[in-house]
Amino acid sequence: MSVEQHQHPSSKQEPCIICVAITGSLSGKHHNPAVPISISEQIESTHEAFEAGASIAHCHVRNNDGTPTSDPDKFAVLQQGLIKHCPGLILQFSTGGRSGAGRERGGMLPLQPDMASLTVGSNNFPTRIYENSPDLVDWLSQEMQRLDIRPEIEIFDLSHIFKAAEMQAAGRFNGPPHVQFVMGVKNAMPLDRAVFEFYLETTRRLLPDATWCGAGIGRDQIVMNEWCVAEGGHARTGLEDNVRMDRTTLAPSNAALVRRLVDICHAHDREAATPAQARALLRLPERKAA
Ligand SMILES: [Zn+2]
Repeated sequence: MSVEQHQHPSSKQEPCIICVAITGSLSGKHHNPAVPISISEQIESTHEAFEAGASIAHCHVRNNDGTPTSDPDKFAVLQQGLIKHCPGLILQFSTGGRSGAGRERGGMLPLQPDMASLTVGSNNFPTRIYENSPDLVDWLSQEMQRLDIRPEIEIFDLSHIFKAAEMQAAGRFNGPPHVQFVMGVKNAMPLDRAVFEFYLETTRRLLPDATWCGAGIGRDQIVMNEWCVAEGGHARTGLEDNVRMDRTTLAPSNAALVRRLVDICHAHDREAATPAQARALLRLPERKAA
């Protein structure tokens, strides 16, 4: 049976690509015991989220004590496990700033995940600067292009859309751009409906070929999920961004957060994209042989 036959017959909207950010670099067992830390916990949690409807896994790795690392060997073990247990799942490795300094952040790129996150400018984080110097952005994007990795361009600020458009015009990305609006990080852009709409308008104007999604932090996650699904975009959930179902209830798993997002999709007459549908929407090739 083709994937199309599983869709609601009256659905005119594209399937929604659900990205699950399973662990990040800050959430810990003391926030929520369901946060996966070891590689085996990460594989198990991702598999459950994959079965619940996630088609992209956004991945970080940790040291045994829970602190963040960019260790390529750990990424390699995670990648092998996810390819084995979650066939077709799109793997996206984080090159985010908490796990290593400078070029260490891209040390795992030779593993050639399907995608990697790419932040194209700097901003503040809750307790520090999220430093993305022009040199580092150039190097990370060159590595991704050389290794045929699709970037997910993280938009923490309006200027990042303009930078992405400049890079796209200069031929710095393989394939059409995929951008993610991040709202609700303390000391960066808060969740704000007017700004969200302006982000969308600006992305459509400057990057007309782009696919887009959004991530909200903490209690903003569910609001951002609603906004993105309603506006026809794609959406991110997971314990990296938020560890709660609501004010008083911890999320029991990444899968529970994915299921909550699938319910939002259904309320808007959309389906969660299968990995094959997600690859088609992103114009990503089938997974390269590992
Ligand atoms: Zn991340």
